[in-house]
Parts: sequence; C-alpha cells; structure tokens
Amino acid sequence: MHHAALYIDGRFTADGPTAAIQEKATGAQLGTYSLGGADDVDRAVAAARAAQPGWAALSAPARSAALTRFADHLRSRYDELIELSMRETGGVRAKAEDEVSAALRQLAISAVEAIGSAGDILQPYKEGKLSLSRSVPLGVVGVITPWNYPLSLAMRAVAPSLAFGNTVVLKPGELTPLLGGQVLAEAADAAGLPPGVLNVVPGDGPQAGWALAEHRGLDLLDFTGSREVGLAIAASAAADLRPIRLELGGDNAFIVLDDADVEAAAACALIASLEFQGQTCISSSRHLVHRDAADRYLEAVVRRVEALRVGDPMRDDPDLGPLISRTQLNRVHEGIVQPSITAGAKLITGGTYEGLFYRPTVLTEVTPDMPAYTEEIFGPVVPITVVDSADQAIELANAHPMLMSSVFTGDLMRGMAVAERVKAGEVHINDAHARHGAENQQPGFTRRQWIGVQRGPLDLPAWTRP
Ligand code: NAD
Repeated sequence: MHHAALYIDGRFTADGPTAAIQEKATGAQLGTYSLGGADDVDRAVAAARAAQPGWAALSAPARSAALTRFADHLRSRYDELIELSMRETGGVRAKAEDEVSAALRQLAISAVEAIGSAGDILQPYKEGKLSLSRSVPLGVVGVITPWNYPLSLAMRAVAPSLAFGNTVVLKPGELTPLLGGQVLAEAADAAGLPPGVLNVVPGDGPQAGWALAEHRGLDLLDFTGSREVGLAIAASAAADLRPIRLELGGDNAFIVLDDADVEAAAACALIASLEFQGQTCISSSRHLVHRDAADRYLEAVVRRVEALRVGDPMRDDPDLGPLISRTQLNRVHEGIVQPSITAGAKLITGGTYEGLFYRPTVLTEVTPDMPAYTEEIFGPVVPITVVDSADQAIELANAHPMLMSSVFTGDLMRGMAVAERVKAGEVHINDAHARHGAENQQPGFTRRQWIGVQRGPLDLPAWTRP
C-alpha cells in the first residue's frame, strides 16, 4: 500500500488525517494520502523561503546536476511509474508512457537551460557605461496541479522553477497524489536536493489548495486546472495583485472542411477527442464539419469508434480505460450527453457505461446551445456540428475559449489561411493537436485561458525576473 506523505523541509511525515486513493479501473484501494492543511502549507512555504537563497546561490552546473540526478532516479523507476500511472489515472499504457517520458524530457530540457544564458548585454544609454540585464529567480513558486497528467504537469512547472533557482511548494490533485506528489518528493530526496527546495503538500482543493492559492508568501502561484477554480483564484489574487499563472480548460475546435481527407481526419479525431478518454485540456470538444464532408466523415469516425475496446489498462490492453471518478462520469453522462440528446442531438454510438467505463460516444446534429457544444466535455465524446462554410466554422470556433485547434483540408494554403483566423494558441493543419510536444509548446498556447508570463520553448522569462 502506498502513501502520499507531507514532504516539508526534507522530511516525510505521515501523521495526521488521511484519505484513500483508488485504483481507477477496479476501485481497489491503492493507498492513502495525507490531508495537508493551512498549517502544513505555512510550514512548507517557510521552508521554501528559507532554502531559496542557498539554492539560488549554487552554481548553475550544480543545479543542473541535481536535476539530472532527479531524472536518473525517475528513470530507474520507469516500469513502476508506468504501472502507477495506469492504476492511479486509469490511462492506457501509451498514455502512461507519454506522461512519464514527457516528465523526463522536461527535466532534461531544464537541466540544460539551467546552464544557459542568464540575461543580456544591452546597448549603453550613455557613453562609457555598460548595461546588463540579468535574470534572477522569482523566489518561492506555489504549484497546483490536476489529476489527468499528474507527473508531467507537475514537472512542467517544477523542473524549470528549480533550474532557475526558485524553490517550490507543490499541491498535487487529490485523485492522483502518488504520481503527482509522492513520486516527485522521493526523487528530490534521492537526488539530494537540499531540504526545503521542493516541498509537497498533498490534500484537498478547498483546504490545502486554497491555503496555497492565497498564500501571501509566494512569489508566483502556478495553477493548472479547471476554469471554475482558476476564476476563483484570479478573483482572490486580484484583491492584492498577487502574481499568478493560470493554465485552464478550453472548448477546442476540430474543423473539417469540404475538401478534407475524411479518413485521415477521422483517424486524428480519435486521438483528438478520445485520448485518455477525452480527459485532457487539449481535447477537441467541438467538431465543426462542412456539410459536403459530413456524411463521409461521420461514417469514417463511427467505423473507428465502434472498433475501440474499453477496459482495465492493467489487464485488458484496451484503447480506452475508465473515467477518473464517478463525479466525472456523471458530469459527462447526465450533465452533457443526456441533456444534449434531450435538446435534439442524435446519439449515433456509445452513450452507455458500466462502472467508470464509458463507451466512446458520437453525437450529431449538435447545435451551439447544447451542453455538448458549450461545455468542455472532459469525456470520450465526439460531438459533430455541421457548418456551411469555412467562415462559419471559424466564427463558431472563435466564440469559445480554445487552447488548441485543428483544421483539415486538401489545400495547405487554405489551411494556413483558416489557421491564421482561428483564435487558439496552436492550430494544427491535417493533424491531431494532441500530438504536439512540450518542447514545441508555443507562446499563446492557452490564449484566453492564461494569465501571467507565457511559457514557451525558452522557459527563462517565465520563471525569473530581469
Ligand atoms: P480542478 O480545478 O478541480 O483541480 C485542479 C487542482 O486544483 C487540484 O489540485 C485541486 O485539488 C485544486 N483545487 C480544487 N479546488 C481548489 C480551490 N478551491 N482552491 C485551490 N485549489 C483547488 O481541476 P481538475 O478536475 O483536477 O482538472 C481538470 C481541469 O484541468 C480541466 O478543466 C482541464 O482542462 C484543466 N487542465 C488544464 C491544463 C492546461 O495546461 N491548460 C492541463 C490539464 C488540465
């Protein structure tokens, strides 16, 4: 049985209240996690504050080497982490491999960036002067992460924070505190990071999460999660202009034009809408399909969807695993699929479930007033809306916040012209947008979902100040 403990100032403590962690496919208890509270967050922030000057004062190669040892430890546990990811998140093996390898790549990138440039030499304003701009760490960074890619989403913030001399307090999602918290704490410990450099406070959102979100001792709060919680954090931070960065959800569009190769588009639709059961922030939750391609596209999608196997990732080698929780399943089924059908959407396939296993679902005749269109679905649903022109597709797409989008067309230049007008951080032409890489993440990635300095291929400006 695993335990996700408090890891504060280099010490693991497991006393205090705890809650159970489930294996998502079976419901069996996988372990427990400590329910951190406001006092624990206070202690963690104080430890991070005390450790920060010493950590920042280390040479860049020393910090880089520590990140490499951190990665070495995770790599030595690769098979175990894949299994943990499958059990704790309910993702299939390929998803687990994506997640663990993305975290390792992020560490490798940050280890290199740690020894890169730390600023610029500026043009002198006056004769005889030398002007320098040197990037210095922000200080203490609070990181709050969700359950869908717990290791890689934590690493996306933790690795560059540490690389540039910041210290961190991490609050992982409560459904995945092992992969999202305990595993990082153990790696930090094994890598010999000084006490207080990385602190982990597992716990529930409204308690540990909120205590960290509104802590006055942070130099940056980096939050990845739902729009709803992000808005509450933004409102609280606005009161005294606390620095925050928000990576929230979106309602991403998948545009199929009349001249598209519908077989290729349908193959990509499976990745875009159904990867990890549709539970990713970049999932396509609106398919805007030109009328002339609609019947062919629907047939190609349904043929593929009906061939998908749903099951326990540890036993069945399925294409899709379970949804993360009963709450999430109810949200998808009762909050989105059923009311959309009642409002006139047509159920073509799926729409049924057993336990947490939801059959991948295709809905057509989806109109812009239905929940399957207005909501970020976060479930294995392909909702199809027919449009009459590229202009209409763009107008509909842009009416909702998007992180990523795709456009399918037989004419690359037409695709480029449409992509320029789609207001998403990334627009992929004739490809599934889930197939990007952290290394390629473009500034503007989460346009309209995001506040703060953007992350991009060069992380330095996001984690330092000049
Ligand atoms: P969530 O907002 O419920 O929880 C995210 C984190 O916030 C968890 O650690 C949770 O404990 C914490 N939290 C919950 N309530 C809180 C509160 N009141 N104060 C402070 N912290 C609180 O989101 P989720 O259900 O875990 O994740 C799904 C959402 O995350 C989706 O909307 C998805 O689009 C989004 N997401 C975004 C990205 C991105 O990069 N933009 C990546 C992954 C997921």
